[in-house]
Amino acid sequence: MHSFDADVEALSQAVLDYTLRRSRMNPVPLDGPRTQAELDEVAGQTITADGLGGVAALELFTRELAPACISTDHPRYLSFIPCAPTEASTLFDLVVGASSIYGGSWLEGAGAVHAENAALRWISDLAGLPESAGGVFVPGGTIGNLSALVAARHAARREGGEQPTRWKVAGTTQAHSSIKSACDIMDVDFLGVPVDDAGRLTGENLRATLASTGTDGLFAVVATAGTTNFGIVDDLASVAAVCAELGVWFHVDGAYGGAGLAAPSIRARYDGIEQADSFIVDPHKWLFAPFDCCALIYRDPQLGRAAHTQKAGYLDVLTESAEFNPSDYSVGLTRRARGLPFWFSLATHGTDAYAAAVERTLEVTRFAAAQVEQRDYLELLREPDTSVVVFRRVGWTPQQYQRWSDRLLLANFAFVVPTTHEGETVTRFAIVNPNTSEADISTILDTMA
Ligand SMILES: *Cc1c(COP(=O)(O)O)cnc(C)c1O
Repeated sequence: MHSFDADVEALSQAVLDYTLRRSRMNPVPLDGPRTQAELDEVAGQTITADGLGGVAALELFTRELAPACISTDHPRYLSFIPCAPTEASTLFDLVVGASSIYGGSWLEGAGAVHAENAALRWISDLAGLPESAGGVFVPGGTIGNLSALVAARHAARREGGEQPTRWKVAGTTQAHSSIKSACDIMDVDFLGVPVDDAGRLTGENLRATLASTGTDGLFAVVATAGTTNFGIVDDLASVAAVCAELGVWFHVDGAYGGAGLAAPSIRARYDGIEQADSFIVDPHKWLFAPFDCCALIYRDPQLGRAAHTQKAGYLDVLTESAEFNPSDYSVGLTRRARGLPFWFSLATHGTDAYAAAVERTLEVTRFAAAQVEQRDYLELLREPDTSVVVFRRVGWTPQQYQRWSDRLLLANFAFVVPTTHEGETVTRFAIVNPNTSEADISTILDTMA
């Protein structure tokens, strides 16, 4: 029989060399996409009957494929939400991969689950949730939001009484696309509540909208702690008060902005989050962990478990036990212990280093906002709540923004894409990388003069 693993020594060395080389690059190359035809040309046929051999396949990846992927951890990658993992977390990702851990059950992954739960506890404590709160690391905010809303509806259904003809979720039009997607998947309605002048969901607006539409079928309200486009944190306390009054599940989507809980300078913006029934934050966004990692936390984990536990004869040995099985708390069964790289980095560096790193990104954000205000060819759309800066280049057409953005990427210099706000093309910086410097910001702004 063919052995898969004959050249394991040479291959381990090659993989570790690659890892070490990349971690020594400062900065890493930005890189950029190539066309399908170009990649067909340079990569050729990679899947063959005999195999290329590991060292050759790695060589091909290093030479042709990796450079066709933008490095999300480049300090001048400021588009969308970047990912800036610590070296410790990236290295530990290799360890997780090398360890063949099943992260779905206590029986199989007790040590890993214990560590993941310690990392979840830190986040839960930052939010001020009770000691009994808990949850699971899921692939991303999309699955986190969906899992939380599924649990919320399950809880509402179990309350009994007359079931509504339609269930509904309230949130603002600024809520992340994944909320509407979750509603589509669940076949429930999404009720859009207008934001206030500061772009926030408030208890007052929520109350006013519900007064005209009624609360029939309403099972959850979603507030955002850091909208993706602007980083706006909703008025969580007043929204929580309305939810408490109505007995409706209060979910906080902090996929991007939840990390700001770790930063003393903006912690007060999150007041009210301690009343959440469920809460998510993506460590792969602003908490320096590699993809893919979202912390989903329930105030009462039993409600998550009731909604998500999969029952099957072959699983009885797990589901009939009293132990903590992460798979019981979200959509999905098999799971990588994806919280471990985050846990390892947190254990390595300590929580003070996390607070300092988030504060550092906020410092650079304030610098960026001030620079935009100082330059007469730029205009700030609003003062940042968190670490997103949205601004316009006076007089530019959408095509000019796009050409500028393309030029920066092609020059391997920066990745900053246009965005739209109320129909207008503008641009934005999302600053989640502690290695992004004031000089990086200034030089990019210089290119717009
Ligand atoms: C990014 C984001 C999501 C989706 O998270 P993924 O990890 O991309 O699935 C949801 N909500 C907000 C506010 C986000 O910024």
